[in-house]
Amino acid sequence: MTLDRRSFIKLVGSASGLALAGCATQGPAVSAGSAADIMPKGSARRVVVVGGGYGGAIAAKYVRMLDKSIEVVMIERNDHFVSCPFSNLYIGGLIKDLDPLTIRYDKLTANHGVKVLQAEVTAVDPAAKTVVTTKGTLKYDRLIMSPGIDFRLEEMKGYDAAAMDLMPHAWKAGPQTVLLRKQLEAMKDGGTVVMSVPLAPYRCPPGPYERANMISLYLKQHKPKSKLIMLDANPDVSSKGALFKKGWKDNYANIFEYRGAKKVTEVDAKNRSVIIEGIDEVKGDVVNVIPPQRAGRIAVAAGLVGDDKNWCPVNPTTFESAKHKDIHVIGDACIAGAMPKSGYSANSEAKICAQNVVALMNGKPTTDMSGINVCYSYVTADQAISVAAVYTVKDGKIVGVPNSGGVSPIDYSQAKSEAIYAHSWLKNILTEMST
Ligand SMILES: Cc1cc2nc3c(=O)[nH]c(=O)nc-3n(C[C@H](O)[C@H](O)[C@H](O)COP(=O)(O)OP(=O)(O)OC[C@H]3O[C@@H](n4cnc5c(N)ncnc54)[C@H](O)[C@@H]3O)c2cc1C
Repeated sequence: MTLDRRSFIKLVGSASGLALAGCATQGPAVSAGSAADIMPKGSARRVVVVGGGYGGAIAAKYVRMLDKSIEVVMIERNDHFVSCPFSNLYIGGLIKDLDPLTIRYDKLTANHGVKVLQAEVTAVDPAAKTVVTTKGTLKYDRLIMSPGIDFRLEEMKGYDAAAMDLMPHAWKAGPQTVLLRKQLEAMKDGGTVVMSVPLAPYRCPPGPYERANMISLYLKQHKPKSKLIMLDANPDVSSKGALFKKGWKDNYANIFEYRGAKKVTEVDAKNRSVIIEGIDEVKGDVVNVIPPQRAGRIAVAAGLVGDDKNWCPVNPTTFESAKHKDIHVIGDACIAGAMPKSGYSANSEAKICAQNVVALMNGKPTTDMSGINVCYSYVTADQAISVAAVYTVKDGKIVGVPNSGGVSPIDYSQAKSEAIYAHSWLKNILTEMST
């Protein structure tokens, strides 16, 4: 069975992962060997986007908004996306299910003509300018990669797939998040929860500390004889430190214990324990292991990571890879100077990347970013704190604009308002990604 380009686009354009999956089960309808069948003919130009998360969905949409003559195919392994932002609130019991954190892509197709292919990207060939997927091979003029993160499991002995089922990371939102919540619910009052935090940089610098707040809140409300111990590989709280510490002292003093400079390097899943650099063992009833991270596996396989072998160096204006021409990397996977690895950063990076991809494809001048990031963290059921900054390009690097942001007041005088702003932020950013 062969598939001509028009049929392929019809299938993909209807966001019909199922239709494509159907083809795949009938035979190699769109396979690595049949690229010619689905390549643009004539003058059509194509941007392929890998990943439909915080970076990818926005990049795909904005390329189409800026130039309708460019075909955009966004490839995502799932038919929906669950937001990590606010998943800590679910773990803490403030949100009852993941529905408010879940988006689908049908409106990106209907409103903007983004073609969504539900498939796993298995290889990228920068010389041939092709992307190999489980449903065939696509040619691109420019490729935007936003695959998020994967784990450096070689630095966490014993933490394999089976161990993840016993000691969830919950650092990619979805089933792992639900599992951690269920384990907390099943734990007896008087139990011990253990969390491990990797050395920075990792996805969402304040995320682990917000999670500590939400787990502590749940324990305080439902299992007050229980304890939470955080083992942080960093020497001290690495984001909004003074604010988090005040929150812990004021709200969770009898429940939460922070231990800095404790790098977990091994797990014993059967015993539900973690081991700190071969010396100390800490056992829990519920154990949340957040492993060290690097750019999503496909970015590594595509040869996009730099000398550190973890993250992808990029041009700070265009986000074009320093390793391969015509490939751009945004979001957690890239090295974006002073910008943290956050959903809001990924959103900002996606917009400037899309603008410059369109400019480059049309022979127009590129523009430096004026990017923004705000990270809200919930502390109690109705209080949140934040860190904010505006970013620009200076001397070939992305830097924070002096005095452009800052952190919340230390007296928590705005914390109730910030909890409301946080909800509004989430609603806006998820709506932008899915309409
Ligand atoms: C607990 C927690 C709380 C957080 N809170 C906040 C917050 O409050 N504010 C904030 O701004 N950020 C927050 N973040 C960070 C935010 O989630 C990430 O920074 C953001 O998701 C990065 O966007 P991305 O596009 O790089 O990756 P993602 O959003 O993870 O998207 C990557 C997508 O690529 C897909 N993909 C990967 N590889 C392939 C492949 N080979 N083939 C097909 N598809 C593939 C994945 O399925 C995924 O959908 C939080 C993170 C965590 C873990």
